Amino acid sequence: MDRPCNTDKLQVERKIDQLLAIASSLYEVPFKRPAVTWRKSGKNAGTANLTHNRINLNPVLFCHNREAFFTDVIAHELSHLLVFQLFGRVQPHGWQWQKMMEEVFQRPANTTHNFDLAPLKLKSFYYRCDCGPVELSVRRHNKVIRGQQRYFCRRCKQTLIATAEQQAASL
Ligand SMILES: [Zn+2]
Ligand SMILES: [Zn+2]
Repeated sequence: MDRPCNTDKLQVERKIDQLLAIASSLYEVPFKRPAVTWRKSGKNAGTANLTHNRINLNPVLFCHNREAFFTDVIAHELSHLLVFQLFGRVQPHGWQWQKMMEEVFQRPANTTHNFDLAPLKLKSFYYRCDCGPVELSVRRHNKVIRGQQRYFCRRCKQTLIATAEQQAASL
């Protein structure tokens, strides 16, 4: 099951209401309620669109990591929007955002997640050498993982190394 049902969506709305109530009572500000969309967007678990006051949740990662979405991902994205409403454009994961997560929502201020990305069926994975990032196909990536093959940069001849961020879903 890779698609959230209506009950899931309702629960997400309810979670947002709960978090908004907490933040509003502490800051004594009537925060604007964000819209929620459900689109796949690469490895992102969730994203926050500041100018449109909108949260996008990855439906596939949601279905495979429900718990973490309710405990962390929703609070993470909502915090971006609330910080924007309070302070305008500041560092995305700066002290204002960290304070919102830790002190207001009482959650750790994590900026990545160790979700299993296999259900996303991504078409490529990022590797790198000193020249910069390189994309490898899933087929090649799997060979590297199984230890069957190494790949080299055509320019600098270095072994391509998997980047750390490909293992973690972005937030
Ligand atoms: Zn290179
Ligand atoms: Zn973030």
